[in-house]
Amino acid sequence: MAKQTKNSGLVYSTDAGRICPKCSRPVASCQCKKQQQAAGRGDGKVRISRSTKGRKGKGVTLITGLDLPPDELKALAKELKQKCGTGGTVKQGVIEIQGDQQELLKELLRGKV
Ligand SMILES: [Zn+2]
Repeated sequence: MAKQTKNSGLVYSTDAGRICPKCSRPVASCQCKKQQQAAGRGDGKVRISRSTKGRKGKGVTLITGLDLPPDELKALAKELKQKCGTGGTVKQGVIEIQGDQQELLKELLRGKV
């Protein structure tokens, strides 16, 4: 096994150097992104917002714009639910966390996405 040094930095640095995991093309020339957006995937600009619509004022905190495959999205949602100590769900690329968790989620997502 190769010896790995610590502090070697991020595996990827720029979009140009990234290879799309779906089609194995450089991200710059891949078409998956467009398809993802058409399918409701995020654009990588993560937004945290609240919604109380149809929930009798209790509300949920929504995390939108996450550009993650469904499996990672689910894993992230699970982790966030645990850290918030509340329930939640994933709907069409949007993570819903119960209650007003905006500040906590901002902290948790910092450096993660
Ligand atoms: Zn691709």
